[in-house]
Amino acid sequence: ILEVRGLAKSFGHTSVLNNIDLDVQEGSVLCLIGASGSGKSTLLRCLNFLELKDSGTIRIRGEAIEAKTHNLNKIRQKMGMVFQHFYLFPHKTVLENVIEAPIQVKGKNKDDAVNEGNMLLEKVGLAEKADEYPSTLSGGQKQRVAIARALAMQPEIMLFDEPTSALDPELVGEVLETMKDLAREGMTMIVVTHEMGFAKEVADETMYMHNGEIIERNDSATFFASPKEERTKEFLSKVL
Ligand code: ATP
Ligand code: MG
Repeated sequence: ILEVRGLAKSFGHTSVLNNIDLDVQEGSVLCLIGASGSGKSTLLRCLNFLELKDSGTIRIRGEAIEAKTHNLNKIRQKMGMVFQHFYLFPHKTVLENVIEAPIQVKGKNKDDAVNEGNMLLEKVGLAEKADEYPSTLSGGQKQRVAIARALAMQPEIMLFDEPTSALDPELVGEVLETMKDLAREGMTMIVVTHEMGFAKEVADETMYMHNGEIIERNDSATFFASPKEERTKEFLSKVL
């Protein structure tokens, strides 16, 4: 569903992504791991055109996407993004947060958006919070609302950038469970995470990045059981 070739990105004179090739099959989960500053967020942001790549091609279902010729809002609708910090609208209720974009951006009528929004809240286990304000929710609940909000745009791919890193440890599990459910339902996902258990258990493939390059990529079982590259081994020895 996604094919990236030769993607490169620099900020000024600093090269942050270097000749990245990436393939993601429909319905699969790819976990992206690597040290701070290795370029994981920048890669996700380039895929979503929140940052513009310097060179390389990004194809979605075979179609090369270019910032010049494509409507980037349409592209971003294909890729839902969930961030470390949830960025919910504080003055809107949970349900209003979820239905905002479908109504404003997609022009969906309010009744349909509300029905769908309630279904999505049910799915992330927050049906009873629909009319609450975000300030009354725990971090884990806020992140699940953020996931429901991204799903409300019916994306084809979900990008997660360290979705559990800002959470208290006891709240991490509920968010990972929600993501696991999504994976089981066949959502295509790219997940930047420090949760090695999640990568091992849920991701079809895991990829290690270092200094803007993909050092190693393999099916998750092999990746964790027998990493091949020295740098991958060293990284895993620190985080496992
Ligand atoms: P972390 O695990 O800390 O989130 P990361 O792997 O996501 O790290 P990035 O955020 O992609 O890393 O950053 C990669 C490099 O690019 C870093 O050296 C960072 O300082 C630099 N960088 C990222 N965004 C910008 C920007 N907008 N302008 C300049 N430099 C940037
Ligand atoms: Mg990051």
